Amino acid sequence: MKAALILGTQLLARHPAFDDPDIDAFFFVESASRFERLPYHQHKIVLVLAAMRHAAARLESDGRAVHRVALSDGLSFAEGVERLVRETDADGLAWMSATDRGVDERLDRLCARLGLRTRVYPDDLFLTPADLVDGWFAEHPTPVMEDFYRWQRRRTDVLMDGEKPVGRRWNFDADNREPLPKGGLPIPALPAVERDPILERTIAEVADRFAGHPGDATQFWLPVTPEGARGWLDTFVAERLHDFGRYEDAMAHDEAFLFHSVVSPMLNIGLVSVQEVADAALAAVDDVPLASIEGFLRQVIGWREYMRGMYRAHPALERTNFLGQERRLEGWWYTNEDVPDDLPEPVRAVLARVHRWGYAHHIERLMVLGNWFLLQGYEPREVTRWFSALFVDAYEWVMVPNVMGMSQYADGGLVATKPYISGGAYLQRMGSWWSSGREAKESAFTDAYWRFLDEHEDQLTGNHRLARPLAQMRSRREAAE
Ligand SMILES: Cc1cc2nc3c(=O)[nH]c(=O)nc-3n(C[C@H](O)[C@H](O)[C@H](O)COP(=O)(O)OP(=O)(O)OC[C@H]3O[C@@H](n4cnc5c(N)ncnc54)[C@H](O)[C@@H]3O)c2cc1C
Repeated sequence: MKAALILGTQLLARHPAFDDPDIDAFFFVESASRFERLPYHQHKIVLVLAAMRHAAARLESDGRAVHRVALSDGLSFAEGVERLVRETDADGLAWMSATDRGVDERLDRLCARLGLRTRVYPDDLFLTPADLVDGWFAEHPTPVMEDFYRWQRRRTDVLMDGEKPVGRRWNFDADNREPLPKGGLPIPALPAVERDPILERTIAEVADRFAGHPGDATQFWLPVTPEGARGWLDTFVAERLHDFGRYEDAMAHDEAFLFHSVVSPMLNIGLVSVQEVADAALAAVDDVPLASIEGFLRQVIGWREYMRGMYRAHPALERTNFLGQERRLEGWWYTNEDVPDDLPEPVRAVLARVHRWGYAHHIERLMVLGNWFLLQGYEPREVTRWFSALFVDAYEWVMVPNVMGMSQYADGGLVATKPYISGGAYLQRMGSWWSSGREAKESAFTDAYWRFLDEHEDQLTGNHRLARPLAQMRSRREAAE
């Protein structure tokens, strides 16, 4: 008998094993130790567990043989696989290649020890086959996302008019990235997710078993099936994609989602595919400004695929610390309790949001949280660990390039050409976090910004994108002496 192992991050409606005539059983392992490795947000655990349980139930209702290790069995991943192999007498194991490094290798070793034949399907969580993305990065030792994105557009024929980009421009950023209007504007709410018995039971189990983890499982809010994820995506396209581009970088004190899709939690576990997301956006081309469609597709077929390629091509990203930052994260980052009184308002508000939802949108991750971590000298791997634990969409392949690279500049400029840092003025312009511009300029963010440039002057000198801020910092320093 040959079995297929369905991983919790690979819950595709059309997993390749489903159509493999050699497969006669499906294994699902809810590894207790995997969920306990970090203090994961309760919503992340609910999402993965409930989605796995639904996937298993769907297969069973199709008459397929399903074998499960339950969370309550308390087994590690390897112990769980081994138990199912022994119970079923399987002589072969198939799985889809995992995006995170090391998983395939561990499974290979386990199968060798158990004497199993193996079959590995290609990783279907992306639009770009692994060998193609590896080839692109091999040809581009100094990779630039814009080049990758154009290659991707041409390769997939997305938003192309022959050899030319639709609208005669590759990039509509100049039309995008406005703050919200002063008087505010209506922002459609996210759809409410109905709870079925599987989800209800999972929420109760997580609330009980992971009570000490961040978040409150009873407030869970995401879809956990491919159909639910599809409905969620369609609602985004119908109600929020229109203004996505324009307000992509906007922030608001009392709005967590604005016009973002909030599709990454489902995309990263296969409940919806990149192709589906891209097709849904493209189908709206007559109703939605091109700047929004292009801006959104740039994220999905550009940034997401690029970061995965970066992770594959540059394994050393996991361990770098170019700026030599050493500060440890205080416990309150994980609990949102006893938060220091002098924590700047944007960080306080976004931290509370992350504890509530396990989510913050891109510019809050980058320019509020990441910016503050960087300016305060936190150790980049500590920061990555925190993001990994707290965010519902966090997995190693996407964390490492985004947190270590883009946000913490731990790679010295491979992912981002300069550190993403700012003082209070930028945050005020994009999010009106303080009651006045003056308060923003005098905030701890601004002090920390100048201090950071001063402390890291030697490491940053020579980066032409920082020439002006460094010159300003030097003038300020001289004036103060
Ligand atoms: C410090 C930091 C941490 C991040 N952590 C994660 C993470 O754990 N998981 C994750 O999926 N993304 C992460 N990102 C990237 C990005 O912020 C999220 O993908 C996005 O905010 C998810 O929300 P959304 O679905 O509403 O995205 P939207 O703004 O609606 O964008 C659409 C989609 O584009 C993709 N995307 C956009 N930017 C990126 C990017 N830089 N890398 C990868 N995919 C991207 C995502 O799949 C996203 O769902 C991180 C970025 C930073 C700066």
